[in-house]
Amino acid sequence: MRRWQSATVTGSRAETATAHTLSLRVDEWNGHLPGQHVDVRLTAPDGYQAVRSYSLAAPADDGVIEITVQRLPGGEVSEFLTDIAMIGDELEVRGPLGNWFVWDQEDPSPVLLVAGGSGVVPLMSMIRARHQADIQTPFHLIHSVRTPQDRIYGDELTRLAAQAGGPSVTWLYTRTAPPSETRPPGRLRQNDLDDGSSWTSGATPTCFICGPTGFVEDAANHLLAAGHHADRIRTERFGGR
Ligand SMILES: Cc1cc2nc3c(=O)[nH]c(=O)nc-3n(C[C@H](O)[C@H](O)[C@H](O)COP(=O)(O)OP(=O)(O)OC[C@H]3O[C@@H](n4cnc5c(N)ncnc54)[C@H](O)[C@@H]3O)c2cc1C
Repeated sequence: MRRWQSATVTGSRAETATAHTLSLRVDEWNGHLPGQHVDVRLTAPDGYQAVRSYSLAAPADDGVIEITVQRLPGGEVSEFLTDIAMIGDELEVRGPLGNWFVWDQEDPSPVLLVAGGSGVVPLMSMIRARHQADIQTPFHLIHSVRTPQDRIYGDELTRLAAQAGGPSVTWLYTRTAPPSETRPPGRLRQNDLDDGSSWTSGATPTCFICGPTGFVEDAANHLLAAGHHADRIRTERFGGR
């Protein structure tokens, strides 16, 4: 098991009204793979400790890592990280962790990314790693969000998708869709993943699904029903329903 290391908050920016990205400087960081996560440990003045996992949002930059945290109402750790943590604060991290939910940059297979809410974080790490290494492997991201205002990394994804060779990106809305959207708002449906495009099972993409547990299970079942093979589907469950 990796050891706990001190991490200093060096940056904080809002991604949406409820999601924040924190930059953390970790003295001894030897890099990580796109899709891996860290454990974050907070210690209160009375010694009480809380540990939660957060995906790494981007390739490391000179010992600085990034996490993006979605604030959950009443959430012990997420409320602290999004609303209270300030530049200069010290916390602890352990990682990188997880060797299964990672994208292998050497693998030329197309990649289908399916995210619910903050489940986009490790998938964005894959998209950023692909962009940084100038790799042309086809990537398609399907991101389910409540409303257009909940599109974490929305501007960056729109920019990347507009570039030649960039990923294609589809947003699905569960509560409120923009006026231009023809799909009625609602939870993920099978035909959202099986729309007759090259991203059906015939293209044998590697599929990464991430988000709340219920979302991940629904998405995995839809992909299996659409003919994707179980051994091509990797999942990461964030908890909740
Ligand atoms: C491998 C891994 C990677 C993760 N990466 C991220 C990430 O990049 N960004 C991120 O924001 N979160 C991520 N999470 C979720 C994160 O670890 C915490 O579970 C989340 O921040 C809630 O912690 P909390 O202390 O605020 O809430 P808690 O105080 O633990 O719980 C508050 C309430 O929220 C419910 N709840 C807990 N977790 C979730 C959830 N994920 N969705 C919906 N309801 C929930 C609980 O049942 C409870 O009712 C990841 C989880 C795992 C296992």
